[in-house]
Amino acid sequence: MRIIDVHCHLEAEEFAGRLEDVIAGARDAGVVKLITASVTTDQWALSLELAKTFPEVACVVGVHPWYCREEDLSLLDGLADAVAQGAVGIGEAGLDSKMDRSPFLLQEAVFERQLAIARALNVPMVLHCRGAFNEMLHCFRKVGVPQRGGILHNFTGSVEVAEQFLEYGFAFSLGGILTYRNSRKRNGMLRRIYPDAFLLETDSPDIPPVEAKERPNVPANIVHNLRAVAEILALSEEEIADTTTRNAARIFGLQL
Ligand SMILES: [Zn+2]
Repeated sequence: MRIIDVHCHLEAEEFAGRLEDVIAGARDAGVVKLITASVTTDQWALSLELAKTFPEVACVVGVHPWYCREEDLSLLDGLADAVAQGAVGIGEAGLDSKMDRSPFLLQEAVFERQLAIARALNVPMVLHCRGAFNEMLHCFRKVGVPQRGGILHNFTGSVEVAEQFLEYGFAFSLGGILTYRNSRKRNGMLRRIYPDAFLLETDSPDIPPVEAKERPNVPANIVHNLRAVAEILALSEEEIADTTTRNAARIFGLQL
């Protein structure tokens, strides 16, 4: 079985000094690729280094809505260079109205700049969106989106919200929340986005599945997320692994 974890944070402090073990554990669980995402400009060099060091690792680089600073608006010019060095997309980027660590107006400015750069470079994006779906769609209308689309990670929206993002060419990844309380809204949404617009993630070191609650969460735990989807959709784990791996390879241009 070949699984791709399309969203994790191997740059996190929790993994310092134990990445070899974490990646070996993922490999043993069937993970053939991990897409790690930086959350600040300071992490870009590490993200790129991880992608060069480990054959299983690819990276995206960006600025997460929780960590936007004024100076990022000019530092984002460095994204083109990071993509030239091997980053497969731009992220984690987005909008979060439920976290006021960065003012929302600044989040919008930093997000729109990343959107414009992703569009110009034609690379996919990895998006974080909480409590701001309409605002994000407004940015799409204003700036446009990269032709290659991208993914909304840890997607918690309804079918109606999913429809709007599908129109812009986006897909959706889900992780540990799949193992939480069964939700009719989420199951309906899953049935809409599967097979072509659904991917698997862990968001490690965050969002551990209920079966492996200890922190930090690790990419090997993606097998629990896979099992949960197989149960919800009443399909085999093999079929879902194949489908989601194909989707990830297509969106991010990964060689497997
Ligand atoms: Zn994340």
